[in-house]
Amino acid sequence: MARNIGAACRSCRRENIKLFLKGDRCYSDKCSFERRAFAPGQHGQSKFKKNSDYATQLREKQKVKSMYGMLEAQFRLYFKRADSQKGVTGENLLILLERRLDNAIFRMGFASSRDQARQLVRHKHILVNGKKVNIPSFQVSEGDVVSLKEKSRANALINDNLEAVARRGIPSWIELDKDNYKATVKALPNRDEITMPIAEHLIVELYSK
Ligand code: SF4
Repeated sequence: MARNIGAACRSCRRENIKLFLKGDRCYSDKCSFERRAFAPGQHGQSKFKKNSDYATQLREKQKVKSMYGMLEAQFRLYFKRADSQKGVTGENLLILLERRLDNAIFRMGFASSRDQARQLVRHKHILVNGKKVNIPSFQVSEGDVVSLKEKSRANALINDNLEAVARRGIPSWIELDKDNYKATVKALPNRDEITMPIAEHLIVELYSK
């Protein structure tokens, strides 16, 4: 399946926020946003930029798309699905994105970024309820147990990631059993646990035009 392979650090600088797309590098002094906190391109440092409502809505959508590594067509499908569900569309959208298996793997600490998590899923390192799942968009549900394949438990990268996960914290909807390389989805994620500043109503406004 297609994925967004645009320069990750440019996305952070474009959206003027650290999106934590590159794992450990994001926490180091190599982070491009820390070194050059202005938009990329010729006019990136211009002080005379005033965004229209449309541009503000567009940037919010691009920010969330970049965070979850999605392409426009996929993202629109998530929006449609969120819109057809009961409740607040913007919140539904974020929860659907959080429930993606690649995101869950990242949140659980098996991977240092969603991109890396996607690779782990695609390369068949991951089991859900004991069965191999290699679809990054798979939606986890309450009670699901996500684990690492026996052979993958010696993987140094994954072990390093698990050691480092405390730095970013594990959301309360997940219970990690580090020693046994598994994690349980205790409940569905809720909006309050998504701590990145996101104004999802702007995305709803954009798509509702
Ligand atoms: Fe963004 Fe991470 Fe790159 Fe920093 S290192 S600019 S947080 S992707």
